[in-house]
Amino acid sequence: MIKVTAIQTGTVTIKSAQAAGREGRSAVQRKIDMLKDTTWTDPLPILCYLIEHPEGRFMVDTGDTWRNSVPGYLPRWNPFYTREVLVKVAPHEEVGERLRDLGIDSARDITAVLMTHMHHDHAGGIHNFPHARFIVPRQNWKVARSLAGMVQGNLPQRWPSWLKPELIEPLASSVGPFETSYPVTTDGRIVMVPTPGHAKGHMSVIVRDTEVSYFITGDATYDEKNLRADLVDGVTYDPDVSKRSQALIRKYAASHPTIILPAHDFHAAARLAAEQVYAT
Ligand SMILES: [Zn+2]
Repeated sequence: MIKVTAIQTGTVTIKSAQAAGREGRSAVQRKIDMLKDTTWTDPLPILCYLIEHPEGRFMVDTGDTWRNSVPGYLPRWNPFYTREVLVKVAPHEEVGERLRDLGIDSARDITAVLMTHMHHDHAGGIHNFPHARFIVPRQNWKVARSLAGMVQGNLPQRWPSWLKPELIEPLASSVGPFETSYPVTTDGRIVMVPTPGHAKGHMSVIVRDTEVSYFITGDATYDEKNLRADLVDGVTYDPDVSKRSQALIRKYAASHPTIILPAHDFHAAARLAAEQVYAT
């Protein structure tokens, strides 16, 4: 028996041109469109996911931290933080408190944290899991720690000094249309698959239960609507790479009953509660 729970850690408001870039625009053009855009999305949920599995409790991402809501805490030298994003997380909305509400001690009760990528709104809650294994895609880890990564929404200077993740690479083991994957559990029911585009080395998590699969996309798509319409965000380093990843997610969902669980989808928690699978 596997159970997946959506956990919301506050909200993030972004430019409309980040949520979905215009078709045909290159990666660079999309960044210019984001800076010029004067329209904003509604506050989007920042979601992470708890997986309760016979081999343990696993988290996918950790949400954001209340500190990033405090004016001046995010680096001021970076226009991405000063002009492109508004984080709102109250202290009681951090993942540690959310888990406590469920009777789970984030410091002791989590077997491993699986990171889709290291952007601030996925890595902001890492300090809540001081004793967990961390599993991070090697390529994303490398990028996130570079200067380019710091410009692009990663905050390595804020990660806990104890963070020493297991850096993984996809193995030659196919899962549905994905040619490579990384098994997390020995029964193969939790696997990570490469879904690059939003960030280099980005991976998603598939939870394969008996009747249904849960596809925890990270930011490979912000919501199911964009996935269905094949819309790519403004952040992508290559729209074609993002589209390839989205096509593989749709292909997987076409052959397995699948609940799509992105990190910023208004309807993800409701779909999960209703066990509503992606209709192809
Ligand atoms: Zn991201």
